[in-house]
Amino acid sequence: MVSDDIFKFLKEKVALFRDFPEERLTELLNDSQVITFEPNEAVIEFGEEGHFLGVLLDGEAELSITDDCGEKHVLDAIGPGGLFGVPSLMTGNKTMTDVIGRTLCQALLIPQKLFTSIIATYPPAVLHLSKILVDRLKIFSYEGKGQELASAALKRSQDPYGFKLQTERPMKILVINCGSSSLKYNLFDTADEKQNARGDVERIGQEGTLHRFSSARGEFKWELPRTDHREAFAEMFRALTSPESGVITSPAEIAAVGHRVVHGGDKYNHSVLINEEVIEVVERASAFAPLHNPLNLIGIREAMKLFPHAPQVAVFDTAFHQTIPAYAYLYGLPYEYFEKKGIRRYGFHGTSHQYVALKVAEHLKRPYNQLSTIICHLGNGASICAVDHGRSIDTSMGFTPLEGLVMGTRSGDLDPGVILHLMEAEGLDHRGLHELLNKTGGLKGLSGLSNDMREVEAAANEGDHRAILAIRTFAYRVRKYIGAYVAAMDGVDILAFTGGIGQGSVGVRSLACQGLKRIGIHVDERKNREVRGFDRICDISAEDSQVKVLVVPTDEERMIARQTLRVLDRSHVAGILKNQTLTEIPIEISAHHVHLSPAHVEALFGPGHQLTPWQDLSQPGQFACQERVNLIGPKGRVENVRVLGPARKQTQVEIALTEQYKLGVQAPIRESGDLDHTPGLTVEANNGAMTISQGVICALRHIHMSPEEALSFGLKDKDVVKVRVPGERELIFGDVLVRVSPNFRLAMHIDTDEGNAASIPTGASGYIDGLQSRR
Ligand code: ADP
Repeated sequence: MVSDDIFKFLKEKVALFRDFPEERLTELLNDSQVITFEPNEAVIEFGEEGHFLGVLLDGEAELSITDDCGEKHVLDAIGPGGLFGVPSLMTGNKTMTDVIGRTLCQALLIPQKLFTSIIATYPPAVLHLSKILVDRLKIFSYEGKGQELASAALKRSQDPYGFKLQTERPMKILVINCGSSSLKYNLFDTADEKQNARGDVERIGQEGTLHRFSSARGEFKWELPRTDHREAFAEMFRALTSPESGVITSPAEIAAVGHRVVHGGDKYNHSVLINEEVIEVVERASAFAPLHNPLNLIGIREAMKLFPHAPQVAVFDTAFHQTIPAYAYLYGLPYEYFEKKGIRRYGFHGTSHQYVALKVAEHLKRPYNQLSTIICHLGNGASICAVDHGRSIDTSMGFTPLEGLVMGTRSGDLDPGVILHLMEAEGLDHRGLHELLNKTGGLKGLSGLSNDMREVEAAANEGDHRAILAIRTFAYRVRKYIGAYVAAMDGVDILAFTGGIGQGSVGVRSLACQGLKRIGIHVDERKNREVRGFDRICDISAEDSQVKVLVVPTDEERMIARQTLRVLDRSHVAGILKNQTLTEIPIEISAHHVHLSPAHVEALFGPGHQLTPWQDLSQPGQFACQERVNLIGPKGRVENVRVLGPARKQTQVEIALTEQYKLGVQAPIRESGDLDHTPGLTVEANNGAMTISQGVICALRHIHMSPEEALSFGLKDKDVVKVRVPGERELIFGDVLVRVSPNFRLAMHIDTDEGNAASIPTGASGYIDGLQSRR
């Protein structure tokens, strides 16, 4: 069909477009694509991310699922005018069916961006799509398989966390990592990864500056006269654009630039589009990271000059750790030092830790937010991170990258008394201490040889005692932190090693894990010796190891490119949100409550007992019950806690932080239903009492919304947003999880403590202020 015919077809044959504004329909058509697919060819496959809305123009296609035994179940058939791709676009879940041609088919593919900006902003269209969604979801629930299919789709997905950097249109993204004496850069081409390029200018500001560059054109090496950072950027530009080595012909080909920025202070818990305000925050945070942030800023300014048209994005090393709870980030100093001077633990290497946590989940085909992972990033700088169900809850680096492990040249943990002593006894001043702790400590200081683990290992192999001691000290500190984080998370599913030493050193991995069998960590030494940790993910766990031990190549540059793409995506959503800033979201304070499983209802209230509805709740089908229970923890009791109905698969107790203290349980912040490794307590009712071994959580703040509402905000299930609550003192709540389901009604739930602390009564409203992150 030619474009005029398609226009007519959509107007006449497709109910969704019947009354659609004509100029908007033309816009849609201009940027959509017409494709043909053959009988038995799949146009969308189960497990893919939803990238477009499909309209069948000609032919007949079927929606089907092939189960694990290879048997095909046809769920529905569509003819000309039929739509496909609706559920995944509207819910953000992976595609749950294959869409396969029965005959030769022709279809119009409308890209997701146009879908959200043009279709989703037209209310009659949204209404129409919601009906389709509800019908399609009914097919799944009729089969009783909704949840199972969603997790099977995730398993089958080749790229569940978007590391293949696919975009609707080809894009070239430049990633910049600007350090004190080096400029590293990577160019990612989303159309063809073979066209990627990377370069490295070393020894900036010193004699012997060297520029290495590799692209599809080959490997290049240029020796340069002494240069400064500005000249290094000009060198990068030359390499990227020169006819001999280059991969672009004009700077305009760079669609976006992603920058590694070390310190985002406590302002940024996500990557951001750089503007004057961001630059100011990075400048302010320079006080905390004087060795890094000023150089990152030079990188940002130079890139802005060279690529003035391209959006610039900051990806912070500290951002991933902003979920660490206060009790883990506070030092034992007077509270004002935290409150007024920002002295707290921030943590670094977040980009690498998050990348590895996601890669591990992808590798194991398990949902990222259901795993407890310890990640050992052991490079020249080294840190360990505890990732509890997708959230960093502790990490070994602190206020600066000096804390924690023994590193190449940094001391790591040290009794602050040593510093006082050296000041007093040796007269060491700031400069001397800085030099000692940052430059002459670590492997280098201990071995007296080198900061390079390979050299220290070579010497140790020759019997050098100090080298042996340096390696043992290094590995022992790693082991101690692993133990600490197993304790912090109440057990662990995965231990991952990454970074030059984590990926390269058989000995360090072995020493760090020996003696941890009793906490479930057991390495197969043969597998450990055979690791090729720089090429691929390797499993080194012994058969009987309860914890999976993996070696995972890190790729911070790819992670920065991915985050950059996500920020661009977010700024698109921000455009939609701007028009939605007036949509009120009712805030409901969730008082403590208990959900009971059917078996526990009977255990507490007698055989055959059914929960008695007392009051309807705002979410359809949910009700508060007449039944109440008392909670008994190791320390104390909380009386008269309301049971909510209907009964659920698992018993879950949601209480506020102050009540946890009263009871004496420490519950993690979790999504509802995610109860692995949570504490238990005793529940008491008139007819009996029972002790549950797990199920107590502090619920993550969340907003319930229907797919139509999510569409109107441009949001997807599991997005994390910021919510503004106006009042005497305007508040912004970050870290608010979006939950999308046809059964939900728009409402934000926060816990009693938060409500009290912010003096928010039930009945107040909030407004979505921005998209914080999207997986
Ligand atoms: P950075 O923190 O500078 O990014 P890397 O992650 O590249 O550092 O790690 C550098 C460290 O990794 C150095 O100490 C180096 O000796 C060590 N390393 C690299 N390859 C190996 C290997 N095969 N065996 C042992 N150590 C290695």
